[in-house]
Amino acid sequence: MEKFKEIGLKLTPQRIAILDYLEGNTEHPSAEEVYRAVSKKFPTMSFATVYNTLEALRKRGSVLELTIDPGKKRFDPNTHPHHHLICLRCRRIVDIHGNYDLSLSAEKKNDFDIMGNHIEFYGICPKCKSVEIES
Ligand code: ZN
Ligand code: MN
Repeated sequence: MEKFKEIGLKLTPQRIAILDYLEGNTEHPSAEEVYRAVSKKFPTMSFATVYNTLEALRKRGSVLELTIDPGKKRFDPNTHPHHHLICLRCRRIVDIHGNYDLSLSAEKKNDFDIMGNHIEFYGICPKCKSVEIES
């Protein structure tokens, strides 16, 4: 994510803090998590500021909205094509970089112009597995 790319909003210190938090973040935070982290520095900041900033970034394609966590929307500042692994227990999301041959035959394309694809792998992460063994 280009941190100071025109986001169509005035770059207030709060918004810069949101952009700073997202820059290089691979945790796929929810809006609540962004709010919690950034409000440590800006206790007076409202959740609406975080939410609206994320929405503005999403509309401009500067962050991706991930819908693979049924509990909440998650945001990804890495807009390069990649895939994801999700833990079914703790909802941790991990990036997967790799090329999978997902070409569609003319028939399967249904006359769509294909713009991309996204694979979701799901399972149990090592942390959750170790909890399972202990208990
Ligand atoms: Zn887990
Ligand atoms: Mn990602």
